[in-house]
Amino acid sequence: MFGVVPKTLWQKAYPADENNMCNLSMRCLAVEAEGRKIIIDAGLGTKQDEKFLGFYYLNGSDSLERSLNAAGLDRNEITDVILTHLHFDHCGGAVDYDGAAGAYKPAFPRAVYWVSRDQWEWAMHPNPREKASYLKENIMPLMDHGCLRFIEDHSFLLPQVEIRLFYGHTAGMAIPIVHINSDKTLVYTADLFPTTAHIPVSWVCGYDTQPLVSMKEHADFLEEACEKKYTFFFEHDLQTECCTLKKTDKGIRPDKLMTLREFLHSSS
Ligand SMILES: [Zn+2]
Repeated sequence: MFGVVPKTLWQKAYPADENNMCNLSMRCLAVEAEGRKIIIDAGLGTKQDEKFLGFYYLNGSDSLERSLNAAGLDRNEITDVILTHLHFDHCGGAVDYDGAAGAYKPAFPRAVYWVSRDQWEWAMHPNPREKASYLKENIMPLMDHGCLRFIEDHSFLLPQVEIRLFYGHTAGMAIPIVHINSDKTLVYTADLFPTTAHIPVSWVCGYDTQPLVSMKEHADFLEEACEKKYTFFFEHDLQTECCTLKKTDKGIRPDKLMTLREFLHSSS
């Protein structure tokens, strides 16, 4: 999870268990605006077999379904699903297997699914290093059902939902920036900053396909985020849902750690 950073260092920031594994979340985000009900990323889903899951040691009792219900949402009313990228732990929950029909189908039947065109094309011709992360059953049913929409570039899905594209982790990873009001902005950091421990610029994830590009993207975006007081929302950090940023002598670092609820109720 931390590339070339020695374990003696990262172990203090994000402890591993006795098998050298880090426990990570797959935290999705729901956004309601302009009459739209949007889900950002969809987790691993429920259709993978035991052999596949045997590599990943799933734990905890959370599921996308339970979280949606807890938020008072039903999957039938979701209008848009933004997939930051097509690695299985981000998009698996976008497609279900219908046992009765013996076929795959979109998990949010009324939604359109947004993915960047660059990521789509990258996934259609995967390099050997990323190939195992792109599962065709997570991806092709979206095209087959005609519910896929492409994000071409930096754009706004709604006035409140900005999308930026990044290339260090994988080509065209779409990072949603949710503008809640003039002094509250939430960045869904996905695999740009998987955890709070990835905020120091050289702590680049070993999964990144272009680590030097990641470092440049991190440095530039952290400057902007600090300047404009963005709050980060973490998909993979088990302990921390959100954090603000501060400038220190060593560079930009996490400042205040908080839950999403605390962020939404904070004064600025
Ligand atoms: Zn990824």
